Amino acid sequence: MSDILVVGSLAYDTISTPSGRADRILGGSANYFSVAASQFAQVHVIGVVGQDYDEADIRLLADKGVDVTGMQRVSGKTFHWEGSYKGDLNEAVTIETALNVFADFDPQLSEAHKKCDYVFLANIDPDLQISVLNQVKSPKLVASDTMNLWIDIKKNSLLKVIERVDLLTINENESKLLTRTTNAIAASKEILRMGPKAVVIKRGEYGFVMATHEGYFILPAMPVPEVIDPTGAGDTFAGGLMGYLAKTNQSLSTEKLKQACLSGTVMASFTIQDFGLNRLRSLTASDFETRKQEFLKVITL
Ligand code: AMP
Repeated sequence: MSDILVVGSLAYDTISTPSGRADRILGGSANYFSVAASQFAQVHVIGVVGQDYDEADIRLLADKGVDVTGMQRVSGKTFHWEGSYKGDLNEAVTIETALNVFADFDPQLSEAHKKCDYVFLANIDPDLQISVLNQVKSPKLVASDTMNLWIDIKKNSLLKVIERVDLLTINENESKLLTRTTNAIAASKEILRMGPKAVVIKRGEYGFVMATHEGYFILPAMPVPEVIDPTGAGDTFAGGLMGYLAKTNQSLSTEKLKQACLSGTVMASFTIQDFGLNRLRSLTASDFETRKQEFLKVITL
């Protein structure tokens, strides 16, 4: 089944950027990922929300064809993250992380969810990533993402995840923190030694470095006139990437990964143009295709 299973945060975020502030807007790694990947493939989302989570925010995914039966609503408050960007839009400073309902989350996959071929373990507690990984049957491709918090407080669990995935996506600074190296190329080599067949190191406006055992591939980000809020760009990138692989029914060949990373880059360029999911939620296939053609002109001699 070329369907994508994603586990990750479903959140309300409070975000400050040089363009302004947004209080308790919809966010979370699984939301950005699902909206992006749903442009290409059937997505099934696994996560938990509290009593305060708006029905309209569940409908946003359902209206895009995402299977929301793996979303649990429990008593308590939805995960909340507060972050700010000061000067450097490539790096969020976390002000507060309130796990709330995620603190006691124990994901239980249905038989259909266990059979998904593509699995994305979006940024979330690595113990939850492992729980999902232990339940899926024989996926074709598993990718994961993470962040500094989990490197700081759950490194052993995180290393167990990384050892078992085919592809890791990670921010540049976090890759250096994880590997205790000082540049992205050195970090990518260390990460490949940890287990994955491929790694994508995300570098904000500078794009990414993708590395496999065969070599490297780099692309800049799509230049956009104004970056309003970079939150979710990484998860959106992953959604575009996994969506492409699932749609074309691909496993990890370097050539296919390049195309998948191109798709991720184009998709992420929409997210940063407005706060939260505001731009991504109205994206059409034709918006995506038009921008992809513009990007190809920008990067071709
Ligand atoms: P990014 O693509 O890295 O900008 O991801 C931003 C999203 O990550 C935000 O919408 C947050 O809700 C979410 N987030 C922030 N911290 C965490 C965390 N510790 N665990 C899971 N999700 C998080």
